[in-house]
Amino acid sequence: MSHRSPSERRVLGPRRASRVSIQGSSASKETLDSAESSGRPVDCLLCGQQLTSVSQVNFHMEHAHFQNDRDQKFEDIQEWMIKTVQNASKLQSRAVQKIISPIAKYTDEDIVDNFSLQRTKRTDQLVTREHWQPENSAVKCSYPGCSKTLNFLSGRIHCRKCGLVFCHEHTLYQAKLSPSAGYDSKHGIWCRVCYSCFIQRPGYDDTNGTTRSRFSTYSSLRKPIKEKQEINFLLLEKRVKKFENLKLQRNVSLVGNLLFNEERKLEQSIVPWKDDKGTHACPVCKNPFSLQRRRRHCRLCGEVVCRYCVFEISITTVIPSLLICKNCNHCYFEKLKFDMERAEAPPYLLHAQHLWTYREALLSRLHNYNAAVKRVTSFDTITAGDFNELKRKRNKFLQLSMRFHQTALKVQDSLFLSETIERVKNAIDQHAKYIFYECTTMLLPLPRRELVIGIHHRASSMSTMTSQASSSMKSDADEIQEKIMSEKIVFQEQLFLVQKMIEEAKQKRKFDELKTLIASLVPIKETIARLDEQLQLQES
Ligand SMILES: [Zn+2]
Ligand SMILES: [Zn+2]
Ligand SMILES: [Zn+2]
Ligand SMILES: [Zn+2]
Ligand SMILES: [Zn+2]
Repeated sequence: MSHRSPSERRVLGPRRASRVSIQGSSASKETLDSAESSGRPVDCLLCGQQLTSVSQVNFHMEHAHFQNDRDQKFEDIQEWMIKTVQNASKLQSRAVQKIISPIAKYTDEDIVDNFSLQRTKRTDQLVTREHWQPENSAVKCSYPGCSKTLNFLSGRIHCRKCGLVFCHEHTLYQAKLSPSAGYDSKHGIWCRVCYSCFIQRPGYDDTNGTTRSRFSTYSSLRKPIKEKQEINFLLLEKRVKKFENLKLQRNVSLVGNLLFNEERKLEQSIVPWKDDKGTHACPVCKNPFSLQRRRRHCRLCGEVVCRYCVFEISITTVIPSLLICKNCNHCYFEKLKFDMERAEAPPYLLHAQHLWTYREALLSRLHNYNAAVKRVTSFDTITAGDFNELKRKRNKFLQLSMRFHQTALKVQDSLFLSETIERVKNAIDQHAKYIFYECTTMLLPLPRRELVIGIHHRASSMSTMTSQASSSMKSDADEIQEKIMSEKIVFQEQLFLVQKMIEEAKQKRKFDELKTLIASLVPIKETIARLDEQLQLQES
């Protein structure tokens, strides 16, 4: 966009203006890009006000031109929502009363179901009433948000569990209580309780419930069908092979001089054709045969099919064309194609498999290292050899975790195939991140250097000083390298997150955010490059 001359921009002006007003609240991308690159202020395309930055443009658009309209709509929606909710709650309480009232009519104790309020009236005498709120002290229903004054009409009922007084509507629930008014789902007595006591009873939020597996039924039903398909597939495979052999033989012996009838005879020797006369409708599409819907024979199953349900397929160079029906295509060629597609895994799956292998190695190395640290630190002092061994193990773990992280990035970066696979990839990414964080938090720190004997003690004696100095220098270098590496991992993670946020911002057309995000990429990239340099220096 930046190569356009100012005059061209002016020419394009009105067209853009119309586009913005159609598209909605954010300014068109071209305008912003050109404004960004040239650094000049932008004029609002609707009212001409001068604006200096992208964020100002968006803010102005949102508040000056689209706010009122949206506010009105929002209020309308809110009003509608409140009305709907009120109506629904009215309906609900009416429905509950409808369910309860026919049961409550019965008075004979033998007929009355456990769930009737009538019955609870008599049985819950056994439950203690000592904790009940004095009836005179309550003027209004204790249910939060219910302002009904308690009287003869609205009802005045004690919750048997908490003892507070409620209106009729808010005590339409039952729970099994023990004589001391505690929850007892096994031997308790059905009692009338308030809504909050009803939902607080143990097991109310238990969403798992009982499960039962229908798989055995399913597999017993599915197995015969599957077996039939398998047999059919093998049969068709055999016939295709026979066709191949036949054509090969024919090419060698008769050099294609067969007459039409003889070829047909050969084809029929592989699978006998069904009689034309016996069939009146196509077995695939179920339409009756007619002059237009003529009969054809499938060369693989010998079935009589209408001409709309057969097509020619080229299988190999030996069999350039073969007339087959849709059924045979589905049973044989589609399955063949499906198996082939399944055999070659897409790259993201390969990476995921690598991730899995890395994960096993990571965890085993982590446990190995942690166990070693625990063993070594259980003594008061640590030998230099042990310390170096620990450091080596830790470095190995860090290197592997880096590779793990890079593989996880590869999974995410692989080619877009479909929405579903994208979701699978996200799940893999989440899992990888989880493992990564878990490993990082589980990794024990190296023991403090003061505990290590040898470095301080032996350093004092002149004879071993030189060798010790070189070894401690080496371990220092190791430590620095390790530090740089873990730092690099952190920054790479950050880079990845920011890149993801940029993608999201682009999709949602949040151009003001985009600018700051892109700006924040630069220091991260610089830091990673610097760390890389340091690493190379360390290695050389
Ligand atoms: Zn404006
Ligand atoms: Zn209660
Ligand atoms: Zn109430
Ligand atoms: Zn048909
Ligand atoms: Zn067929």
